[in-house]
Amino acid sequence: MTHRVAPREETFPMAEPLRSQSPSSPQPSDEDASRTGREPENVRRGFLEHVRFSRGKNPETATAHDRFMALSLAVRDRLAHRWVKTARTYYEQDVKRAYYLSAEYLLGRALGNNLINTGMYEAAEQAMRDVGVDLTTLIEMEPDAGLGNGGLGRLAACFLDSLATLAYPGMGYGIRYEFGIFSQDFVAGHQVERADEWLKFGNPWEIVRPEKAVPVRFFGRVEHYRGPDGQPVARWVGGKTVIGVPFDTPIAGFGNNTVNTLRLWQARASEEFDLLLFNAGDYERSVVEKNDSEVISKVLYPNDAFQAGKELRLKQEYFFVACSIADIVRRYLKTHSDFRQFPAKAAIQLNDTHPAIAVAELMRVLVDDKRVSWDEAFHITQQTFGYTNHTLLAEAMEKWPVTLFERLLPRHLEIIYEINHRFLRQVQIRYPFDQERMQRMSLVEEGHEKMIRMAHLAVVGSHSVNGVAALHTDLLRRDVLTDFAGMYPERFNNKTNGVTPRRWLAWCNPRLSKLITSRIGHGWETDLDKLRKLEEHAKDAAFRKAFREVKQQNKHDLTRHVSELCKVDLNPEALFDVQIKRLHEYKRQLLNALHTVVLWMRARRDPSTIIHPRAFLFGAKAAPGYQSAKLIIRLINGIAEVVNSDAGTTGLQVLFLPNYRVSLAERIIPAADVSEQISTAGWEASGTGNMKLMLNGALTLGTLDGANVEIRDEVGDENFFLFGLTADEVIARKRAGYRPREVYQQNLELREAIDLISSGFFSPEDKNLFKPLVDSLLEEDRYLVLADFESYRLKQEEVARAYLDHDAWTHKCILNVARAGIFSSDRTIRQYAEEIWKVKQVPVEP
Ligand SMILES: *Cc1c(COP(=O)(O)O)cnc(C)c1O
Repeated sequence: MTHRVAPREETFPMAEPLRSQSPSSPQPSDEDASRTGREPENVRRGFLEHVRFSRGKNPETATAHDRFMALSLAVRDRLAHRWVKTARTYYEQDVKRAYYLSAEYLLGRALGNNLINTGMYEAAEQAMRDVGVDLTTLIEMEPDAGLGNGGLGRLAACFLDSLATLAYPGMGYGIRYEFGIFSQDFVAGHQVERADEWLKFGNPWEIVRPEKAVPVRFFGRVEHYRGPDGQPVARWVGGKTVIGVPFDTPIAGFGNNTVNTLRLWQARASEEFDLLLFNAGDYERSVVEKNDSEVISKVLYPNDAFQAGKELRLKQEYFFVACSIADIVRRYLKTHSDFRQFPAKAAIQLNDTHPAIAVAELMRVLVDDKRVSWDEAFHITQQTFGYTNHTLLAEAMEKWPVTLFERLLPRHLEIIYEINHRFLRQVQIRYPFDQERMQRMSLVEEGHEKMIRMAHLAVVGSHSVNGVAALHTDLLRRDVLTDFAGMYPERFNNKTNGVTPRRWLAWCNPRLSKLITSRIGHGWETDLDKLRKLEEHAKDAAFRKAFREVKQQNKHDLTRHVSELCKVDLNPEALFDVQIKRLHEYKRQLLNALHTVVLWMRARRDPSTIIHPRAFLFGAKAAPGYQSAKLIIRLINGIAEVVNSDAGTTGLQVLFLPNYRVSLAERIIPAADVSEQISTAGWEASGTGNMKLMLNGALTLGTLDGANVEIRDEVGDENFFLFGLTADEVIARKRAGYRPREVYQQNLELREAIDLISSGFFSPEDKNLFKPLVDSLLEEDRYLVLADFESYRLKQEEVARAYLDHDAWTHKCILNVARAGIFSSDRTIRQYAEEIWKVKQVPVEP
């Protein structure tokens, strides 16, 4: 082991504070108007100054990208003052803060959203018009910030928006992946992944703060000795150090002065590391090892609800957790010295188990570094953490080999063992002579390879455990965490997910927003329950007509976009039937696909069976290693090719839109008529796509799964198309010995469709391409696609009939919008704040 220089925490020497012109007043002076003024004239000047001074261009030579950057920087200027003010307010009032730890943030684009939240959209539009620039074009230049896979990452983004809008002192922590979720292409119907180079042209929103960098240790060994007081002390030493450098992104609240922070950590090689090797003349190795460190924040793992168990992933998790805990503790110690008050000042929420190692890390910092006693440290830790579970899927449950832990995080393994030892003693006292229960509940899974169960660590180390929809929390209590719910019933609670109405209505659907406001006024943007007032207007034929026209215009917009994007001309008069979400067997895109084949075969025999033109739209990325999911994409593309070739006679269209992501969702959702939420009951924890679609006036065709249950409770059975087995029936059906081949044999149309797929009709280049798909369907059908098929098909017939009565249909759509209030993430965040975090709203003065 070579000698290593201890990493320096302060990269920059402390500087004397700058003298500002008027230290008492942070108000910007008039000369700053081009930086802070919100009139079109100020925005225009700010923009032109950034073209010149930040981009180094003349207005005539500035490219479209220069203009995007210049406008974004002008908008960021207008956030800066409130950003500083927000930080100062929290600091001066020494408020309790909520920290959200998440490995994913699926933010999407920022420019349009920031203009909406700051109320500057019209001013920016005018300012750009005055210089001959189209604002929409600039907005669409921005790459999506795709630092997440799907619902879990998008939830984190909605929560940040709600925290800021409700003026809660909240902060997000995560990883600044250089490459976010891959971008998706189709080549001969197959998914092809391309690297997501979202930072290639620079990111105008983030500010790097190298002075707040944090060293993070990996590997090494633990030294045990006795301290001066005779107490045992452990010290984690050696190994190698990586530096976490924070990049801050402002998160502006809607219509207030709050600008919170999303702090994302990037991995950098530690200085001494390469310098030592460099000085020893081993330049090449120094560069290679630098890369070793920096790969940590290189790429987002593209799996949704699946744990691949890669060492680099555990490194990512510990990396951002260690940086964040160090940052939180540093902030606490600026104004406090006694750690007993820590839970009164910091609530930390774990977004799934990805950051669950934080439990052991806070214990390590408290016990080893700050010399707090174990019992006190554990009490502090438990009072600080809350854990949100996001899935019941066994393959998503995070477990890490003890051997990996021992090598990578030796001290954390010791701490986990100690937590487990003390915890199992409590189990033993509570349930004597129940060895099996102890084994089930242990943080360590015994077996061929010993594993650490991260969910158990998260539950034991937290005072709150929540599911994300009523049914999901119920199943957690009854099934996956039932032993823990028995022992700690008071810890378990539900927080049904929500979506931010700013992005998912005000921003993405300006026509509907305007119509709503024309009837009920503003206010719904921050109090979504106000949409209830639309129930009255649903009775007004003129309103229904206007509502239908908005939907129709949105469908025309999508049609235009799609014809550029995929060279397919959708019929804008068709019913737009939409399934957009990650590609997953449990989400059952295959059920939808099988149904389209059945419909098409019928229509070929008798075109009159299609009583209204229908377009089935799909959007989904499959994890690159998830073969059956990729095959389903290829199948749907194969079906699309066939079905679209005679759309003129059948009225059917099928289209898989490539590269589904937030900015594409923003185009599809306002144009959707039917929202497909057809997961096998019991497997979708909540869903949030269902809420976005409901909010934009699509009717749900769904199973009793996740938040669909609550959506149906809100809108009423007559405004929801329900089908399929319930979660309990799914279990019963499997227990009774489910034989999918029997369903296949008994349902003639279904059999014909499956046989057509088997025959290679949709894959002429390889007749056997879909054999694995069909075999798995007929032999196992883990997600009961065939069991639910007939129920689904019948409900689809009902959908088609219902759509014929446009007026009655529109009435249902309006009631869906009117009753979506409860699915605002503002409601969710209020519940987290009041019931778990105990944080208070802290308005920021102008
Ligand atoms: C909302 C959203 C999701 C989650 O969709 P579900 O239907 O709830 O799985 C996934 N991806 C993107 C881009 C989203 O906006």
